[in-house]
Amino acid sequence: MNTAILKPGREKSLQRRHPWIFSGAIKKTTGNPLPGETVAVYGADGRFAAMAAFSPDSQIRLRVWTFTDEAIDGAYFRRRLARAAALRQALNFMESGTACRLVNAESDGLPGLIVDRYDNFLVIQFLAAGVEFFKDIIIRELNELFSAQGIYERSDADVRGKEGLAPRSGLLCGEEPPDYITIREEDRLFLVDVRNGHKTGFYMDQRENRQLLTQFVRGASVLNCFCYTGGFGIAAMRGGAASLVNVDSSGPALALAKRNAILNSLSEQSIEHLEADVFKLLRSFRDSGRSFDCIILDPPKFAESRQQIERSARGYKDINLLAFKLLKPGGRLFTFSCSGLIEAPLFQKIVADAALDAGCEARIIRRLEQAADHPTALSFPEGSYLKGLLCLA
Ligand code: SAH
Repeated sequence: MNTAILKPGREKSLQRRHPWIFSGAIKKTTGNPLPGETVAVYGADGRFAAMAAFSPDSQIRLRVWTFTDEAIDGAYFRRRLARAAALRQALNFMESGTACRLVNAESDGLPGLIVDRYDNFLVIQFLAAGVEFFKDIIIRELNELFSAQGIYERSDADVRGKEGLAPRSGLLCGEEPPDYITIREEDRLFLVDVRNGHKTGFYMDQRENRQLLTQFVRGASVLNCFCYTGGFGIAAMRGGAASLVNVDSSGPALALAKRNAILNSLSEQSIEHLEADVFKLLRSFRDSGRSFDCIILDPPKFAESRQQIERSARGYKDINLLAFKLLKPGGRLFTFSCSGLIEAPLFQKIVADAALDAGCEARIIRRLEQAADHPTALSFPEGSYLKGLLCLA
């Protein structure tokens, strides 16, 4: 059996059930484990601590599968996958729609594994050496558990590089998914391009926030910034918004947003689609005196590393400040950050500074987070990446 022995005191985070062991915590490894192979982890005192996946290229050298001395095999993955599926079933996800996240990596006890369900297809990301090593077993178990029409891989996220893994995408088994899979989220329909879309194709983490939006937009003029394929925009129109401006810098995303509007039988006259840089567009709206009853800011991840926190904070402040200036009195701002490194208190401070500089006395009326099918293990606070505020101007 491969083993890793930790330096004195470095078993503490494991006692708190945190799943990551950094390279600096390891005194030595024995057995020459292959990338992704299972290693039994012991404290400096020789006591068993965990079973973990070895990742020689990553700073996160070991990712814990389990804190008990159990075999990491097909039966192990079956148990974990079944537990993740049971959670979603308990939350009745497949009743309110036809898409949900089935496995949320570390927080579901399967470090590096993302499994998203879009109708009858599964789209998977293998983002760490451990899940890559057990790929065939995981696919087999997923097939047995879910009997999907097809399983498609989208392991083309940048984090694979940190694990020494090349990007990979394509069909894993079953049927090729269609160019666009139609999914339903509450009463909203979306076309999802699982081959070329962001992440696995769609931002399901915003489902509950889109639903909340519907309660705040009756008769409103809505500006949906960073709209991607129109998620918040469709929700706004379903909630009775009078007009909608969808903005994104990506042509293909906007093209799909337009098709999604048609799919939902929305009146095209009340929707504008603008291909633009939000930073510039907000300035031009400010200069021309355009204002809105409701603004959504859901930008991409600005902070990829600690070094980028300050710069990204300036980016968040900039767009929030401009948004507060464009809000009509009594207007609503739904503002988000999906950068895990920008923690909720910092984000609130940035938004507060933005309101102050904009001269807007806004109040927070809701704190927002990722949807329940993207749970966060209590032992893994890093899992809470999406945060948002609903502010009333
Ligand atoms: N709100 C969306 C998800 C947003 S993802 C949803 O609910 O589905 C972030 C989006 O921002 C991407 O579509 C990306 O193309 C876009 N984007 C990134 N930088 C941008 C910029 N500077 N201006 C406009 N759009 C941008």
